[in-house]
Amino acid sequence: MKGMADMEDLGKLERQLAKCGYSVRIFENSTQVVREVSRITKAKKVGFGSSQTVAEIGLIDEIRPSAAALFLHEPGQAGEIERNALASDMYITSANALSMNGEIVNIDGTGNRVGATCFGPREVIYIIGENKIVDNLDSALHRAKETAIKLAAKHKRNTPCVRTGRCSHCYSAECVCSITTIHRKQPFGVKVRVFVVKEHLGL
Ligand code: SF4
Repeated sequence: MKGMADMEDLGKLERQLAKCGYSVRIFENSTQVVREVSRITKAKKVGFGSSQTVAEIGLIDEIRPSAAALFLHEPGQAGEIERNALASDMYITSANALSMNGEIVNIDGTGNRVGATCFGPREVIYIIGENKIVDNLDSALHRAKETAIKLAAKHKRNTPCVRTGRCSHCYSAECVCSITTIHRKQPFGVKVRVFVVKEHLGL
């Protein structure tokens, strides 16, 4: 699969994600997913990871008037906002990759985003464009690394990958790859929704 799934693939993926314990929805477009997330987040405290997907679909402006509070992470920050986000009712992020086996892969520099998806907020929503769907875990890890390289370039990090376009498994002070998470199934005590959108979203 080269990142865009057909109907049959999406059906299979939906069934597999349900088997992993997630609440799954496939959305035709970002307008629909924004409408649904706005409904779910009403009167809730909501934390966010830094996410190009969330920015692209205009979600923040849409839910700000009805949510109880929003905690928005800025790249490189690791302060009170990020700690409040971990204690919020709900956390919203995307993923670097989603495999057809249902594995959700993320690479994080600070750890706030992956931390929140493991334990903290009682509800987590992933919003994932169909371009992030790949065949298996190896491809998902590869895609996540490619995304990290793009992210390092976007934020002008002083890392080898920004200079060469390839990962050299660095330990630079500005390395964006501190933690890699693989969610194989829904963790205990957390309700996780996986919203797949039939659009190209995010990096
Ligand atoms: S480990 Fe270092 S070189 Fe590799 S992608 Fe991450 S920041 Fe770039």
